[in-house]
Amino acid sequence: MKKIISLCKRRGFIYPGSEIYGGLSGTWDYGPLGAELLYNIKEAWWEKFVKSRDDMYGLASSIIMPEQVWAASGHLENFTDPLEGEKFNTMFKSKVGALKGETADIYLRPELAQGMFVNFKNIIDSYHPKIPFGIAQIGRCFRNEISPRDFLFRVREFDLMEFEYFVREKDWEKYFEYWKKEMWDWIKEIGLDKKKVHELEVAPENRAHYSKRTIDFEYDFPFGRKELYGLAYRTDHDLKNHKLDYYDEETKERFIPHVVEPTFGAGRTVLALLSSAYEEDEMGGEKRIVLKLKPQIAPIKVAVFPLLANKENLIKKAREVYEILKPETAVMWDDNGNIGKRYRRQDEIGTPWCVTVDFETLENNTVTIRDRDTGKQERIDIKEIKNCLLEKLK
Ligand code: ATP
Repeated sequence: MKKIISLCKRRGFIYPGSEIYGGLSGTWDYGPLGAELLYNIKEAWWEKFVKSRDDMYGLASSIIMPEQVWAASGHLENFTDPLEGEKFNTMFKSKVGALKGETADIYLRPELAQGMFVNFKNIIDSYHPKIPFGIAQIGRCFRNEISPRDFLFRVREFDLMEFEYFVREKDWEKYFEYWKKEMWDWIKEIGLDKKKVHELEVAPENRAHYSKRTIDFEYDFPFGRKELYGLAYRTDHDLKNHKLDYYDEETKERFIPHVVEPTFGAGRTVLALLSSAYEEDEMGGEKRIVLKLKPQIAPIKVAVFPLLANKENLIKKAREVYEILKPETAVMWDDNGNIGKRYRRQDEIGTPWCVTVDFETLENNTVTIRDRDTGKQERIDIKEIKNCLLEKLK
């Protein structure tokens, strides 16, 4: 963990929150590479679970919500952790409004789900979706954790990616199984080490107040096996408490849908990916650190180097290559230090390919493209470089 935290800080993935003022416990700030990684994860998630489907409705709801929402959902009473024999509610409370008598108590959402429930009727009125369907969103959540710890694992402010999938009561088990399988597909697709992920059937006394069945997807983090994602059967708990229901135009029945809810922590995904990907090995007789991230998720896809930084014609040609690739994908320019050092620097941030412009380029318009994992280099024509990379990224 120490090595990962130090790499994250050194290379601009993740910094401690408000660090110049001594830091604020439970907060971390994503630097340029971390922001890119986080964005790639969210984009892949949105593509898989929202955009590519016909039964999912995207949402971006407010972070601040009035007390009534949390009273109805049961969070005011139940969203607590034990502290010195008392129940400590971990929701952050604040007030909106300025004038006396016109202020209202609000809470920063500790989960995304209530945003989907309070918009349930809006989505129905706008789209008339047929059951089963889902409402999905990605967004920030806040929990006043009693003891934040383990880097991104337990923080006070984090991104969740989540959807509520509305089904008929009789179908909940079928869809629970279906989404479990989809969650495993996601885990494989983003390149998490499958052997490090384990399903845990959560015992009734450990389940959240709204759940009748929960499976945790646990991950073997460097500090132990801990929850990465959750899959919960929320029953009709929330819609019932918000006094919402569904009318089926075909069968003319009115009923309260039941909910199957897959939840993915984005920060825990970043941490699991970094710890899956981090390796120390030897290449060409030299020790190196390498992040074996899947190319689709890696923050930078390709780095472009002129072999020497003080040769006009090499730089000019390398700039041309850089400009060809820049509109296509995330590209980094590096002309600092010798080529071996530049490879090491890219390996350390998980860049899958490095393209070098050398003296041969000036003769025959070919460049080398070097693979992060094997260290092998191929020579290809500059005309092919764009298609070659796009092909690799598919
Ligand atoms: P834990 O038992 O670890 O506190 P939980 O059971 O309270 O988690 P859920 O309410 O199921 O967590 O939250 C759903 C998901 O949100 C988790 O699977 C995790 O990915 C993420 N998550 C929850 N709390 C935090 C936190 N403090 N920091 C980062 N991610 C979190």
